Amino acid sequence: MSAPSDIRNVIIVGSGPAGYTAAIYTARANLKPLQFGGYQPGGQLMLTTEVENFPGFRNGVMGPELMIEMRAQAERFGAEIVDADVERVDVSKRPFTVVVDGKEHSAHSVIVATGAKAKLLGCEGESRLMGHGVSTCATCDGAFFRNKVICVAGGGDSAMEEANFLTRFGSKVWVIHRRDTLRASKIMQDRAKANPKIGFLWNTAIEACEGATKLESLRLRDTVTGEVRSLPADALFVAIGHVPTTSFLAGQLETDENGYLVTRDGAKTNVSGVFACGDCQDHVYRQAITAAGSGCMAAIDCERWLEANAH
Ligand code: NAP
Repeated sequence: MSAPSDIRNVIIVGSGPAGYTAAIYTARANLKPLQFGGYQPGGQLMLTTEVENFPGFRNGVMGPELMIEMRAQAERFGAEIVDADVERVDVSKRPFTVVVDGKEHSAHSVIVATGAKAKLLGCEGESRLMGHGVSTCATCDGAFFRNKVICVAGGGDSAMEEANFLTRFGSKVWVIHRRDTLRASKIMQDRAKANPKIGFLWNTAIEACEGATKLESLRLRDTVTGEVRSLPADALFVAIGHVPTTSFLAGQLETDENGYLVTRDGAKTNVSGVFACGDCQDHVYRQAITAAGSGCMAAIDCERWLEANAH
């Protein structure tokens, strides 16, 4: 599986759990992967605090620490990791081209693991208190708010799903929506409305997340009357949608209507030799462990593809 020195066996784009796992597996397969991890490497786990559901850590692990360990593990096996953003790729002909800081890199195969970003409200205090009461993942952080007042921003299926899930923990769950009708599907709406722990604050915009070191209250504005008030809250889960990081591909790979890459038969995309893993192709599970698992799948699919295609 040797390659001319200027053509890499595989370039991995992205450095969350999916990208690092793909790097660990391809490095251990002696493929000498080159990984572009972005200027802010590590993915969404760099924005979280404690991770309690990643197997192998009985006492939990801090998100950034987990990512540092994954990276070091990949580097130990020879993965070359560069903290830079990929500007564009050309997968129309082989070898494929990946452009970073204006420089072209060639590879026989590419693994896309660029993840997705949770949309944020953009209000005052939201970023400052992220991981300190403000979260974008109920599965990850819900259990930290037992018997607390929990708020959920949004009116779509994600918000309904998060709100229902969070009633396992919270004493009260407020769904805060900017309009007076939900976007969520009827079945998800009915389920949320039938849940006695869930209350709805309609026509309500969140203007600020307040609290010195952790979230204490939300400043709310009635979008009809303009009235402003404060709501005591221990947690705010922002559930207003996600955006997969796939625009740099400029439509060369098949996506669904929301921009998520379509994978078939494991981690294969519609272009032979290009694989995708993690949240850029998964809008359903979105967990670190599922992303890592799909990174492993992409690496194994890639290794077999390189072997079959005599690179
Ligand atoms: P979505 O359907 O786009 O809904 C986003 C919600 O957030 C909308 O209610 C929207 O308000 C609100 N919102 C957006 N930007 C906002 C802002 N800046 N400030 C305040 N509110 C804002 O997104 P989603 O709920 O994540 O769902 C995405 C897709 O996944 C959908 O197709 C959904 O059906 C699917 N999904 C399915 C399930 C399931 O079936 N189990 C679970 C989750 C997601 P407006 O309504 O006013 O626009």
